[in-house]
Amino acid sequence: MPVDENTVSQAVDCNLVEDICSDTRMTRSEFIAQLDSLKLHGFRVLWVGGLSFMLITWPLAFHSFALAGRQSRRASLAFNSIAFGIAVLTFGCFYLVLRRTIAKYSPACSSCGRKITWREKNKVLNSGQCPHCNVEIFDGV
Ligand SMILES: [Zn+2]
Repeated sequence: MPVDENTVSQAVDCNLVEDICSDTRMTRSEFIAQLDSLKLHGFRVLWVGGLSFMLITWPLAFHSFALAGRQSRRASLAFNSIAFGIAVLTFGCFYLVLRRTIAKYSPACSSCGRKITWREKNKVLNSGQCPHCNVEIFDGV
């Protein structure tokens, strides 16, 4: 993560006036940098997860359609339920990884601790407040 001069001087200020300066609050540039990293990691998870989901479910669906024509109803029903189970499991893993990525990389409000994602980015940058508890979340202005 690139560190600009502003952040460095702010960090020095923080050390000088440690008692006044709350370290849980963030600056606007830190907030934006953190959201950018969330976006980067989120997109990577979406790409890899979506692609593996397709790679796993497509052959299953294809095979299921092929079975429907020539196998007995019972055999294709058994295959379909297994295929459905695998698809749900794959989607569940993908969903969990995505949730964990969001939890890990999104900036959190210093007051209520809830995560702020890029959906609330503009709102937060305009108001300077947490979208959940409306507390000022930025250091300075
Ligand atoms: Zn909050």
